[in-house]
This record gives sequence, structure tokens and C-alpha cells, in this order.
Amino acid sequence: MKIGVIGLGLIGGSIFKRLRKLGYEVIGISRSQKGDNIYSEYEHLKDCNIVFICTPIHTILDVLDKLCSVLTSDTIVTDVASLKEFVTKKSYPFHFIPSHPMAGTEYSGYEHSFEELFEGAKWVLTPFDNSNTAELEDLIKKMGAIPIYAKADEHDRAVALISHTPMLIAQAIFKACEGNDLALKLASSGFRDMTRLAASNCEMAIDMINYNHKNIQNSLLNFYSTVGDLLSDYNENTLSDIAQKRKNMYNNEGKNIL
Ligand code: NAP
Repeated sequence: MKIGVIGLGLIGGSIFKRLRKLGYEVIGISRSQKGDNIYSEYEHLKDCNIVFICTPIHTILDVLDKLCSVLTSDTIVTDVASLKEFVTKKSYPFHFIPSHPMAGTEYSGYEHSFEELFEGAKWVLTPFDNSNTAELEDLIKKMGAIPIYAKADEHDRAVALISHTPMLIAQAIFKACEGNDLALKLASSGFRDMTRLAASNCEMAIDMINYNHKNIQNSLLNFYSTVGDLLSDYNENTLSDIAQKRKNMYNNEGKNIL
């Protein structure tokens, strides 16, 4: 099987490294990286069985359009963008299955990519009706990830709750402390864990806010009203219920077990 990866950054580089390690023939399309089987022209993807698009969110539609003159229905194409509804507006001549690996770090670029990134991670697929996903699902499992199926709009609402809104709040918490040197000096592990997402890849953060604006707004309204509800009846039962559910969600290695 021949596999293509476009954009060798954190996610694309990790897919590239993992699939090579698994023994697949992997073609990389990169503007910055050089090496065996790495090219800058899309022509080299012509006879690939599966192609992963791993470029920034705001470039994905353009890349999909460019692939129209290179690939046919014989090739499965997936994009790994953190949002899924925006890629559903057009049909393509290749077999397109949008997806989103729920794995990452606060770093970006090939130098931070590593082959174990997807080990034990959920990998969401949002296929169109009647799409055969068996081959892609199999490859995702071989990379160590766990496939999860969802509708594109449900996915975008869910990631607003668990990823985009927490990132925005982490950035705001950090910014709110600026100017208070004592607070920043005293800040320890609680502040570090709470604000980890404030160190997110800026380009991706801006794309997330722009492309998932509506869902983030709704999720923020839900957050404000939840803070209000919590404070209006701040009691031990409610807090221990939250604490217990949060403890039950992750195992000792920090992996989500739900
Ligand atoms: P990244 O490390 O910045 O990698 C993106 C790569 O895309 C760059 O290294 C570059 O690769 C290429 N690229 C950059 N600008 C481009 C442009 N204008 N046109 C074409 N290619 C361009 O970012 P990433 O974290 O891997 O994110 C890539 C995709 O994965 C995004 O769609 C993101 O939503 C998604 N994603 C990210 C995470 C995460 O936590 N980081 C998690 C899941 C999904 P070359 O130099 O090789 O061309």
C-alpha cells in the first residue's frame, strides 16, 4: 500500500514517521522538509491508496481543490483538521473521508513530531453516508489510535466544549494575571495545568476561533451560566459529584477511559 502525507508538521510528521516505521511506502509532500520520498509537487501522490492532508485548517479547502486534478476515486483522502463541518460543503472526485485525531501537544513542526503520538488516542471519522471506511479505519488502528464515528456538526459542537473553549479560557486566565508579578511568581502546578492550552499553536488557535465561532459562543454561554449555577449553590454534594466524575474519567496514565 502506498500512502501520501501532505504537510509534515506535528501531525503530518507523526503520521509519516509512524507509517514508515510500520513498513509502508510513504510519500511526503512538504514545503520545508527534504529527504527520501519527500517532494514539493502533488503529482507524486498520483498512485497513492490513501492520502492524509495535514496542513493548517485555513489551507485545507485549497489543498482539496488542488488534489482534484491529481487523484481519482481509487484514492481515499482524509484531512486531519480540528474542525469537520467546513469540509462537507463540496463533493470531490476522490473518496473523501474527513477525520480528526484527538492527539497533539502545544508544539508544532516536524521537529516535534513523533511516531507514538497516536498511541491510545481517539481518532474521529465523520464519513459521508454510505462511505466505506474499512481501509482507513484499519490504518488508523495500526497507528495505535481508536476510531470513533460522529456527524461533522456534532463533532464541532463537542470540540468547542472540550478543546476550543478551554483554550480560550486558559488564554484569558493567563492574560488576567499579567501585571501581577507576585501572582505569576507564586503560580505553581495548578496554574501550570490550568493554562497549558494558553501555549497552543497560535495559527491553529486563530483558525479554531474563526471556524468554530458559533459553537464556541454557545459553549461560553453555557460556561457562564454553569459558573452562576455553581456559585449560587456552592455545596459539598455538587463538588464531590464533579470531583468523582472527573477522577473516574482518566486512568493512572492520564488516558480518557470513557
Ligand atoms: P503544524 O505543526 O504547524 O504543521 C502544519 C504543516 O503544514 C507545516 O509544518 C507545513 O508543513 C504545512 N503548511 C504550513 N502552512 C502551509 C500553507 N500555507 N499551505 C500548505 N501547507 C502549509 O500544525 P499541526 O499541529 O500539525 O496541525 C496540522 C493540522 O492538524 C491542522 O489542520 C490541525 O487542525 C490538525 N490537528 C492538530 C492537532 C494539534 O493538537 N496540533 C490535533 C489534531 C489535528 P511543510 O513544511 O511540510 O509543508
